[in-house]
Amino acid sequence: MSVMTLFDWQARAASAQLRTQAFINGQYVDALSGKTFARVSPRDGQVFAHIAECDKEDVDLAVKAARTAFEDGRWANMKPSERKRIIVKLAQLMRDNLEELALLETLDTGKPINDSLKVDIPLAATYLQWYGEATDKLYGEIAPAASQYLTLITREPLGVVGAVVPWNYPMIISAWKIGPALASGNSVILKPAEQSSLGAIRLAELAIEAGIPDGVLNVVPGFGPTAGAALGRHMDVNKISFTGSTEVGKYFLRYAGESNLKSVGLECGGKSPHIVFADAPDLDTVASGVAWGIFYNQGETCNAGSRLLVERSIKDELLERIKRVTETIKLGDPFDPTSQIGAIVTEEQMKRVLNYIEIGQAEGANVCLGGKQAMPETGGYYVESTILENVQNNMRVAQEEIFGPVLVLTEFDTPEEAIRIANDTSYGLAAAVWTSDLSRAHRTARALQAGFVWVNCFDVSDPTAPFGGFKQSGNGSRDKSLHAFDQYTQLKTTWIQL
Ligand code: NAD
Repeated sequence: MSVMTLFDWQARAASAQLRTQAFINGQYVDALSGKTFARVSPRDGQVFAHIAECDKEDVDLAVKAARTAFEDGRWANMKPSERKRIIVKLAQLMRDNLEELALLETLDTGKPINDSLKVDIPLAATYLQWYGEATDKLYGEIAPAASQYLTLITREPLGVVGAVVPWNYPMIISAWKIGPALASGNSVILKPAEQSSLGAIRLAELAIEAGIPDGVLNVVPGFGPTAGAALGRHMDVNKISFTGSTEVGKYFLRYAGESNLKSVGLECGGKSPHIVFADAPDLDTVASGVAWGIFYNQGETCNAGSRLLVERSIKDELLERIKRVTETIKLGDPFDPTSQIGAIVTEEQMKRVLNYIEIGQAEGANVCLGGKQAMPETGGYYVESTILENVQNNMRVAQEEIFGPVLVLTEFDTPEEAIRIANDTSYGLAAAVWTSDLSRAHRTARALQAGFVWVNCFDVSDPTAPFGGFKQSGNGSRDKSLHAFDQYTQLKTTWIQL
């Protein structure tokens, strides 16, 4: 990788030839209406691209292409070892085009270029590779039926899968969905968030280069209530795999009920708690885990540890250390390779975050770090890393997903109280427990209503571990690991009289 400076990245962004069209049936095409929408840069508030604005008729075309590709078996009936080779090649092409894809990811989202280069694009490639490699390692089952029968249980692809993704980790989350969907033989229509279409649009071209046949991977950029809803309501889409807010997740369940009862997998929001007991092994490690766990990616992380529940006796000491860590995290221009926190994705989202900070204060919380817009002179959307203390769990800032760099701190006195507060939320995506007592760690982890519980660490994972939420953080589906194949396949029983 070349060593690039802020100036180099700015120059590269200014001269980049951006692909902005939809990708349907192996071709870049304009929206049928000819409409486009402007994309405003999070780093300076300037328009940098006009993206094809797909709507129902474009979604119809994409579904037709995907259906034709699925029915003629050009992908679904390809030898699994060949599908594997192609998906693994796509992962390699992502690595070969790392700097370009990282540039697109940072342009769109405002996340630091260093994260796009070292985390988002490499991880997206890792996930694709992992699912590519799994393609020819999935076996069916034989049921233990009576001996005069042979009862085969086989997994079949669903057909046409709509993948609807958010803007916070566009490439990683797309890879979580495209990987297992393609590996199991489906055709896919990817609907990126309107804030972050560029990477998805470019990925489609790399897929063709890798050898994925026309029509198997389509990309329809556009708005949620139009393009997203058209996919959700389509009578010929078999599955929607959605990641985004709980509110929109509920729309997709409604769309399915009002159309063809398509299967709907939901990965939604969160309000994940850290529980820090006074016997936590090392408060510096806790402070680092808590600070990075909320402020990484500007707090725009579904499983961000946004609630800190701390045992009263260590509250002051821990808070001091978290503040110290936070003050070392460098906020700056996303194209500056030394920035560790960049811009909030849109002006609307920045205002939402700032509004929550005001709401928290009005509710009685105290801003003990940050609290304001940062770098307003840039025209971009930056918010200081913020900590609110004196927060009661019934306050809006403790119950509602802020989806920005805001940590809320609540004190507790007993383990029972900590668990009660941790679970007192409509969400259940993730949680963390910090303690030196092994039994307490297990007891607490077991009592927490969350799909992912970390003990003495935070936000560590890899492709082998399933990810998804309890309660209103999801509806039981899981991304990542081999469990993700349950989302993209259906079981067939073949009962044979011998
Ligand atoms: P969002 O729900 O607004 O949008 C997600 C996607 O749905 C986008 O592609 C959008 O265009 C589409 N959409 C929006 N309105 C729609 C509608 N009426 N009909 C159909 N489609 C519609 O979410 P966002 O703001 O892009 O992302 C932030 C949310 O995503 C947060 O709540 C965050 O917690 C969640 N998230 C969850 C996970 C997870 O794995 N659980 C991961 C990342 C983000």
